[in-house]
Amino acid sequence: MIVPFVDLHAQYESIKEEISVAMAEVLGKSSFIGGPQVKQFETAFADFCGTKFCVGVGNGTDALFIALKALGVGQGDEVIIPANTFIATAEAVTMVGARVVFADIEPMTYNIDAQGIEARITDRTKVIIPVHLYGQPADMTSIATIARKHGLKVIEDAAQAHGATYHGRKVGSISDMACFSFYPGKNLGAYGDAGAIVTDNEDLAVKAKMFANHGRIDKYNHQMEGVNSRLDALQAAILNVKLKHLPDWNGRRRNNALQYNEYLKDLNIITPYQMKDVESVYHLYVVRVPYGVRDLLQQQLNSDGIATGIHYPTALPNLLAYRYLNHKEADFPRATKASEEILSLPMFPELSTEAIMYVADKIRKMGYPLRSS
Ligand SMILES: *Cc1c(COP(=O)(O)O)cnc(C)c1O
Repeated sequence: MIVPFVDLHAQYESIKEEISVAMAEVLGKSSFIGGPQVKQFETAFADFCGTKFCVGVGNGTDALFIALKALGVGQGDEVIIPANTFIATAEAVTMVGARVVFADIEPMTYNIDAQGIEARITDRTKVIIPVHLYGQPADMTSIATIARKHGLKVIEDAAQAHGATYHGRKVGSISDMACFSFYPGKNLGAYGDAGAIVTDNEDLAVKAKMFANHGRIDKYNHQMEGVNSRLDALQAAILNVKLKHLPDWNGRRRNNALQYNEYLKDLNIITPYQMKDVESVYHLYVVRVPYGVRDLLQQQLNSDGIATGIHYPTALPNLLAYRYLNHKEADFPRATKASEEILSLPMFPELSTEAIMYVADKIRKMGYPLRSS
């Protein structure tokens, strides 16, 4: 049996007709930038997140960059982000000229540790960017408390968590601004690059929209210099179709995760921790295995036809890209340890029960000892 890590083609096959109609409409009108599809998507996605405003942009990295710009973050400022995330979270901070400050993670959820944040706050700190990693919301209550106490803004990096809920609220609606990526492999993915910012703050939404479109309010009325980072009409038309299916797809991911949990429960392997009153959308299904055997397990699964991933193999502070910060691995012990033990198993809405059982069976055959308790 071959089990791919994700299967974008299976999903395309299931919505092919709707996609063709939506794309033909854009092509027929030759209105490729802006237009009704973009507006329609922005309205629908704000509604989905439970926010007042949505600004479509070119990709998720730009969404973070533009959100930081709208908040006025720049040279001399510091922004706190988790040590375990995709590099884009950190790149956006550097792009506005601010300094990246890493905080270690919680060992159970792999999300940013609130206590670690507080220890890193200085009088230059302006923003905290929690990442809802793997689809599971970060500890937003503690983060909001810290932010309020120190007068900081919070930007959610929700690139992996479209539709996840925290204490009954959708991610994206629990902070000053939230950023989404619609990279094809995300829970809501375009057929190319795309991203969005959502917020309840009209002033921030207007600033973000202006900055993303050359700093203009009319064709040649530029209030400032900005960038060109727009959601294009073809991607918006595709996202309009796919957004309607997202709740169903997220439900299937959740169901797949429950099945994995069940089939792996008696093995010496740590399955994803489920926080109370939080609903993950399982962008990834990440397990953790005892130190020293992860790579062996990955190779074995690979030879059994099962594709896996590691998210991420090196904690950001340990990358060459951040050597200038002079960190040691011991500065982020939890993120460093996790990076050596985590393994992402195949996860996508169309993943079959047979495939999940096959994966679990192959892991069992590796000879993981049964849990003693
Ligand atoms: C994918 C991702 C991004 C970047 O999004 P792009 O659309 O690829 O630029 C940012 N943060 C996280 C956590 C991501 O997973």
